[in-house]
Amino acid sequence: MVQPKLIIHGGFFSESNTDAATKLAKQESMKRIVSLAHAFLLKHSALDTVVYACELLENDPLFNAGTGSQIQSDGSVRMSASIMDGVTRKFSGVINIQDVKNPIRVAEQLMAYDDRVLGGEGATAFARNQGFEHFDVRIPQRIKEWEIKAASQGKGTVGCVALDAAGKLAAATSTGGKGFEMVGRISDSATVAGNFANAHVGISCTGVGEDIVSASLAAAIGIRVTDGMPLDQAYKRSFAELAAYDGFAGAIALTAGGEWYHLDSHPSMVYAFTDGIFLDIF
Ligand code: ASP
Repeated sequence: MVQPKLIIHGGFFSESNTDAATKLAKQESMKRIVSLAHAFLLKHSALDTVVYACELLENDPLFNAGTGSQIQSDGSVRMSASIMDGVTRKFSGVINIQDVKNPIRVAEQLMAYDDRVLGGEGATAFARNQGFEHFDVRIPQRIKEWEIKAASQGKGTVGCVALDAAGKLAAATSTGGKGFEMVGRISDSATVAGNFANAHVGISCTGVGEDIVSASLAAAIGIRVTDGMPLDQAYKRSFAELAAYDGFAGAIALTAGGEWYHLDSHPSMVYAFTDGIFLDIF
């Protein structure tokens, strides 16, 4: 039996108004959520756990996913979320979904379908058909930022990679986007550039979606590890490619061997790892 392990992230600290108190609050939330998710992982699969962990992160208004998501240029919130099962290699996701509390749960429902990535109105309509109720995820702080058109420097997003007792990996990522983006803009979070898992490794990214897509970041790290490159080298190689255009990104990963890693190209990403005994929070 494999020792179950879990790594989660909550985007970058540089998100709008990150003062010392907010930083501390985010770290406290990470601690609470990584512990709850690890307890869940002891009794559930990696796939179920990454969804559960992302749901907890989406429900926490401190993070830019689900409740607390960034608002786009037209005043609406459009969210993206995806899951990748390392066992089946199935990927499911929603892109630019509106007015649901937990986009990651909608992505989970799509796992059972042939058409597994839905966007825009189709994604929202699918959610309604599945019984997801209308839910406005805008919180007063985000509305205030949007009203004064305060360009948030923030890179948010949440994510989780889990390794379960059967040695199976899964990854999930959920985002409210960059904030103030053009309507129709597509995030990396529901693509394999932002979220990737196979039998060898799982990866979840945050940062500027355009930069992450240009580097195919999660997939590049994943394929390098699959082809035998050590995890740290796969990271360094992939992040070196980002450096060519000063790409803004961070990524967490966990391998089937239980190795975990994190790197960011700009300071600084909030993440937490636990195997149930050891807990590391940044
Ligand atoms: N990657 C997300 C996006 O570009 C944003 C983020 O991670 O903060 O939509």
